Amino acid sequence: MMTQYLALKREAGECLLFYRMGDFFELFFDDAREAARILDIALTTRGEHGGAPIPMCGVPVHAAESYLARLIRAGCRLAIAEQVETPEAAKRRGGSKALVARDIVRFVTAGTLTEEALLEPRRANVLAAVCEVRGAIGIAACDISTGRMELEDCAPEMLGAALARLGPTEVVAPEGWEQAPDDAIARPAAGFASDAGEAKLKDLHGVATLDGFGQFGRAMLAAAGGLLAYLDHVGRGRMPLLLPPVARAPAQTMAMDEATRASLEVLAASQGGRKGSLIDAIDRCVTGAGARALAEDLSAPLTDLAAIQARLALVSWLHDDPLLRGDLRTVLRALPDIGRALGRVVAGRGSPRDLGQIRDGLAEARRVRDHLAQREDRPALLDALMPALGGHGALTDLYTRALVPSPPTTRDQGGYIAEGYDAALDALRQTSGHARRAIAALEAKYRAETGIAALKIRHNGVLGYFVEVPARAADALMAPESGFTHRQTMAGAVRFNALALHEEASRIAESGGHALAAEEAHFEELVAHAVAAREAIALTATALARIDVAAGQAERAAEGRWALPHVVDAPCLAITGGRHPVVEAALAETRGGGAQRFVANDCTLSPEDRLWLIGGPNMGGKSTFLRQNALIVLLAQAGGFVPADSATVGLVDRLFSRVGASDNLARGRSTFMVEMVETAAILAQATERSFVILDEVGRGTSTYDGLALAWAVVEAVHETNRCRCLFATHYHELTRLAETCDALSLHHVRAREWKGDLVLLHELAEGPADKSYGLAVARLAGVPPAVVKRARAVLDKLEKGRAATGGLAAGLDDLPLFAAAAAAEEEQCDELRERLKALDVDALSPREALDELYRLKREA
Ligand code: ADP
Repeated sequence: MMTQYLALKREAGECLLFYRMGDFFELFFDDAREAARILDIALTTRGEHGGAPIPMCGVPVHAAESYLARLIRAGCRLAIAEQVETPEAAKRRGGSKALVARDIVRFVTAGTLTEEALLEPRRANVLAAVCEVRGAIGIAACDISTGRMELEDCAPEMLGAALARLGPTEVVAPEGWEQAPDDAIARPAAGFASDAGEAKLKDLHGVATLDGFGQFGRAMLAAAGGLLAYLDHVGRGRMPLLLPPVARAPAQTMAMDEATRASLEVLAASQGGRKGSLIDAIDRCVTGAGARALAEDLSAPLTDLAAIQARLALVSWLHDDPLLRGDLRTVLRALPDIGRALGRVVAGRGSPRDLGQIRDGLAEARRVRDHLAQREDRPALLDALMPALGGHGALTDLYTRALVPSPPTTRDQGGYIAEGYDAALDALRQTSGHARRAIAALEAKYRAETGIAALKIRHNGVLGYFVEVPARAADALMAPESGFTHRQTMAGAVRFNALALHEEASRIAESGGHALAAEEAHFEELVAHAVAAREAIALTATALARIDVAAGQAERAAEGRWALPHVVDAPCLAITGGRHPVVEAALAETRGGGAQRFVANDCTLSPEDRLWLIGGPNMGGKSTFLRQNALIVLLAQAGGFVPADSATVGLVDRLFSRVGASDNLARGRSTFMVEMVETAAILAQATERSFVILDEVGRGTSTYDGLALAWAVVEAVHETNRCRCLFATHYHELTRLAETCDALSLHHVRAREWKGDLVLLHELAEGPADKSYGLAVARLAGVPPAVVKRARAVLDKLEKGRAATGGLAAGLDDLPLFAAAAAAEEEQCDELRERLKALDVDALSPREALDELYRLKREA
């Protein structure tokens, strides 16, 4: 057995090997230690290997799924080795001591799950493959639980942002590739070949060319090759549900890097988890598929005006018709997750229940279509979705005839094929029904014959049918001529067999076995129908999800009295009464405790006034204001209403957020380093069409360094990037920039001191902040009065010193302008370049050359 185990373990590699032994999956050696630790189950030993006891642990097969789930969540990958022949077959093959043949039937990894119990209903489960082909990064991503597949390529520095958008649970990359993401699983590099990828995709979809699906570059196809090779390995040759690949062009969506997504808390809050995130505050979808589609929309807001307006028109239509919206949502709420049911069916892990879900979902989709068809004012997007909602008549009819109303999740007991579908099956069932009734009749007959009123006919898995009598009455049946044969003696009862009983039982077993086999054959055929229609079924699922997203967005908008944004193609932003959806919701929750209402604020940016410098006390609401405007832009371009009284949003190509000093020490970089890396990315990438929010840049270092950096960053954003930007800072000195930067204006969050207490108004006003209120905030936070008093004394002294020297920013007034400084430097370079060109190097002696070099260096 150990030889067989070790051979399988070699094949399983790094995966924990689940080795089937009867009713248990057993794990051995290090696998056992790890699984026992994670699952908190007993670690025992079994036998010896090389003279030492073998560590072992096991889980019962019937409960394996919950254990698999916990191991997957802990980051493990698993290999399942099943018995691939019965013990009887093994004995026939190799005698009584023969070992049952076992094989790895599948690998279970986080990115290749299809089981309902292992997946989160409201989150896509993405597997990505990445590789590099001649300087371009190829990314292939799929969610095999629903079949979506997309391919894209990007520059090496954009890989992080692309992966952040996709949020994969598992990434594979060629082994030996140095730029591979840290947590990627290394796979043989040979799989990542563009010709192999192309051939496999063609083969999978039965097409001669991929042109019908889109244009795919070499890098994309190489990544697809790696992805398909991995799926082939994991599924042991059985391909999961994969729909035709979609080519994604980066320009179709608003670019957001990982830091921006994290700081805006789009899909997860900064402390982790969904609670407190943007999606948590807006998701009103009533189906898992809708919630997954919403997450995608928020991860990749659009940049195409027409596409955004199409989405908005649908949301707006549903917003204005609460009755229709309510009806739709009621229907959708009862909808099974057909996309995922299909994923299981195609992967060969489907159950009769999954087929039932497909049947019910498709029938429901048709009802949705009929309902909407009565309306004549349908928006264009909905019109485009209508055909996908129908067209499954033949399949739903077939499934309705073939399957019982609520089919079971397992096939081993049968009973899922409906009566009347197959006459032969009905006859078999009738035979076993007769036999069952005959057995019931036998019980009465035996009672009468033996005179034992307590005699019962019972059934269990080991003995099958048997006659049971109380021990005290058993003697009469023990006699050979009684017609009963002894089977088993229990504490208070004795069990017997009888010829007639045996005959009827065999009839049940035989017809039952035949019936099971007949049901199996029907199941295979029904599955084949779903597999053949997989693309159309997936389209229906997508259309329903889109409608759910729009209805959910409309519902959320109605709840919070949100506004339909006016999206335009110009570098502007005009928001009145803007709110932060998450902070507002949090305040509403604590309202009972006397907390205040959310104070709405306006924000107006245009090419002439595109950079707002925002001052004011800590806790005054600066970060909240910055973020709420970024979120409104994001929501608008994702195609939803926005938390504001009105909003005009000029299309944004890239959104950047650098808020707060996040603690990234775990990755071995200091907070300040992270801040600078992210700021550098913004300065390098932001365009005139971008929107940037920067909060407290320079906070992570000394006052002088910090002020100097903040100053230079504001100037560069103003002069070079020329993007729309909100910049929050507590450096009062920066207000002087208003004198030199003409598209920059000063704003502050208002606060007031009232009877010695600080009152934060969370209200934005024009002009610079008058003072910083730092000590008042400290007192508000509960710093002991003695310490605040001492700080006041220190502050007085510092302020006196500042008045005498002209302050921290003394001398900055005569600093040349950012552009002027750059121009002066450019001029000097030009001059040096001219002199270098004029040099006749061949005419110089070594001595003269050296002297010239010294001169140049002095002047540079
Ligand atoms: P700052 O960035 O100025 O330090 P924050 O934006 O972090 O301030 O806000 C601090 C707290 O003030 C928030 O957690 C929230 O509770 C409250 N707050 C912020 N903005 C508002 C607002 N517009 N209306 C009501 N409360 C607000």
